[in-house]
Amino acid sequence: MTKTEIKTLTNSITLSISPAEIIKGEGILEKLDQKIATFGDRPVIIGGDRSLKTVQSSLKKIFEQNQQISKVCTPLQECSESVLESLKTDVNTHKGDFIIGIGGGKVLDASKLLAHQCQLPILTIPTSAATCAAWTALSNIYTNEGAYQYDIGLTHCPNLLILDYAIIATAPKRTLVAGIGDAIAKWYEASVSSGDSTATLTIAAVQQARVLRDLLLQKSVKALENIGGEDWREVVDATVLLAGVIGGLGGANCRTVAAHAVHNGLTHIRASHHALHGEKVAYGILVQLRLEEMIQDNQLAISTRQQLLQFYDQIGLPKSLEDLGLQNLTLEELRHCANITCLPQSDLHRLPFKVNVEELMAAMVSTNNII
Ligand SMILES: [Zn+2]
Repeated sequence: MTKTEIKTLTNSITLSISPAEIIKGEGILEKLDQKIATFGDRPVIIGGDRSLKTVQSSLKKIFEQNQQISKVCTPLQECSESVLESLKTDVNTHKGDFIIGIGGGKVLDASKLLAHQCQLPILTIPTSAATCAAWTALSNIYTNEGAYQYDIGLTHCPNLLILDYAIIATAPKRTLVAGIGDAIAKWYEASVSSGDSTATLTIAAVQQARVLRDLLLQKSVKALENIGGEDWREVVDATVLLAGVIGGLGGANCRTVAAHAVHNGLTHIRASHHALHGEKVAYGILVQLRLEEMIQDNQLAISTRQQLLQFYDQIGLPKSLEDLGLQNLTLEELRHCANITCLPQSDLHRLPFKVNVEELMAAMVSTNNII
């Protein structure tokens, strides 16, 4: 190989745009025995408490039919380094040959990363529409106490994503509301970080994010009024699938800016742990817009924030620290959260202007200001 050829190779970019296969439909899991049989003989199942209860009887039937020997791991509490180590031991002891992740964001992130580390196929079965984790080639790592640490890019998206609407319909409504919050953030973050990009796939991703936002602004209220209905199904597709497409097409540059940075900072405050990922991110969008208003005097950000405040009211997303249940936050805790959000490696700094801790704190306490 010549030197130029090697250089071309090292300059290559690997894209992980989509799961190899997506199967979606109402009550489809039980009918997928033959498909699941193709992945191996010794599946390792990772789920949360509720997820395992919802899905375990369907899976048990499938494994019996396929004569597969399964290992169900202890319900997952956190996607942390130490939990992953013990899951790895489970896989090795069981001699697992593929992984099935059933649950919300943390379960799916842990399952994907475990499969990546053990070099095994991964099937994801989301049990709520709260995130697009069932789709993406990315896992977020937290401490055992739930504080965000870092994210890891994986070599590929899942081998199979099974979106069973009958399972998603059993999730609390609040999870879909949170999923809407996480998904609309794609537009507010991607348009800031990549709106001026001239790269074909990034332009495509940003435009998809706009489509996703419009779709959610139009259909979310109706979707939440009629769980299981047509609009609901479209909104579920938007939060679980389309949001994943944007992450895949846009890559790291198109993912997160201040909204997720604020989320990450908030996870370092124990009192915020009852709030879902998408709820914290939705609040983070308002903080991001508030920073654009305060520091850039951005008029568009003012009207966008007013529009979002109305939307949040309609569907029940948090508009303030109080709505997140953080009304008793001390100044010290607020500063701690802002300090973490402002760390040099934070995605906050993808904003096109500098933000200091005091400015961030001021934005965090004024997200629901009415102009
Ligand atoms: Zn997110």
